[in-house]
Amino acid sequence: MSTGDETLRAAVHAGMPAGLDELAALVAVPSVHDPAVQSLDDCHRVADRVRDALQDLGLAARCVTTTDGSRAVIATHPAPAGAPTVLLYAHHDVQPAGDLAAWTSDPWTLTERDSRLYGRGAADCKGGVVTHLVALRALLDVHGAFPVGLVVVVEGSEEQGTDGLEEYVSTHAADFADVDTAVVMDAGNAAVGVPALVTTLRGTAFVELRVRALRGNVHSGMFGGAAPDAVAVLVALLATLRDPAGDTTVDGLDASQTWDGLPYDADRFASDAGLLDGAVPIGSGDPASQVWARPALTVVGIDAPGVAGSSPSVQATAGAALNLRVPPGVDPAAAGSLLVEHLLRRAPDGVEVTAQVTGTGDGFRATAGQFSSAFRAALASSYRVPSVGSLGGGGSIPLCATLERAIPGVEVILAGVSEPTANVHAPDESVDPSEIEHMALAEATFLAGLGAAGA
Ligand SMILES: [Zn+2]
Repeated sequence: MSTGDETLRAAVHAGMPAGLDELAALVAVPSVHDPAVQSLDDCHRVADRVRDALQDLGLAARCVTTTDGSRAVIATHPAPAGAPTVLLYAHHDVQPAGDLAAWTSDPWTLTERDSRLYGRGAADCKGGVVTHLVALRALLDVHGAFPVGLVVVVEGSEEQGTDGLEEYVSTHAADFADVDTAVVMDAGNAAVGVPALVTTLRGTAFVELRVRALRGNVHSGMFGGAAPDAVAVLVALLATLRDPAGDTTVDGLDASQTWDGLPYDADRFASDAGLLDGAVPIGSGDPASQVWARPALTVVGIDAPGVAGSSPSVQATAGAALNLRVPPGVDPAAAGSLLVEHLLRRAPDGVEVTAQVTGTGDGFRATAGQFSSAFRAALASSYRVPSVGSLGGGGSIPLCATLERAIPGVEVILAGVSEPTANVHAPDESVDPSEIEHMALAEATFLAGLGAAGA
């Protein structure tokens, strides 16, 4: 290890107290980009604060309003001669806190317990914002200038899926044309102290299924048995989407893929997913293949009478909202069409069944090139581990596909300060500050290395 690395390590360490103060200030503002939940003034305050922090680092920073009304921060620094330009991404909006009673401490007050920091957004993704700030501050402290060109993008509506930033990037592609690689700091590691890059994200298709079996509801005593029952038809159709082992079965959709990155231990999966005592993951094959490499069908909503207040009648109509996750490389729209055809083909005679794709999201497979190899090496050095594995990602991050479309040849690197115990999107979200420190050091080391290579 070179002394340069140790100097950066010391600079990142020295910058952590200020970084964690900044994290506390960011968490204190409930920046939920949903006017039904929270005043958008809070989102704008956080955006302005992030812009000011980037300006203080010497970047040319501004807020832009995107088509969904959210405020994204964009900050740039020109590349020194011969050096590449790196896009650093995070988002400043957060999920709503949900049921406050489910939180051990106030979600909007960063609170330390057992050496973790609790609060909404502590990991997702204000922890990512602070990681970039700490890394950039350390680079300035050690080198006196940024060694590469920078485009810092801090989104304001990532959690809403309203595509404001995607549209902005698509319509301002020229602003991003110089970007060689993008570090998306919105994912996470295998465990605390066990770094990994997320190399794939599944794509997604939403399908709405509707069943109409009668002109209206009828008395189950008088007609039940001979009258077609919409709820029974719905249940039968849904039952064709999984086999007895639990594997998803959509006609024409391959479900035999295997994951070749880091394994996902079955016991850990059972604990992360909250399986009941003694239960094992469903489906054939290992959990990593099931959740990262294969399609998965989830029924996310059902229209049928609720249990309370139900009456003894045969239901005329029923419906379901279906969410299909597909492996990277599979076109979500085509997979959605296969699901629609699968359902329509099984419609019983005399019953109206309709199904349509209501939305899709692209998956993602990272290109393994020079920049991701350099980032892996920086992670290994920062965490002092011999090698860095690959994980699949949970949610979709549409920006990854948008960047690849807008910037031909860009290498997207997906990292982050979450890990399975961070409870992102749930009560008691938290971050381990050592993850922020290690990740910031990895990013600073990566950027310094790129600058040295170009000089
Ligand atoms: Zn996030």
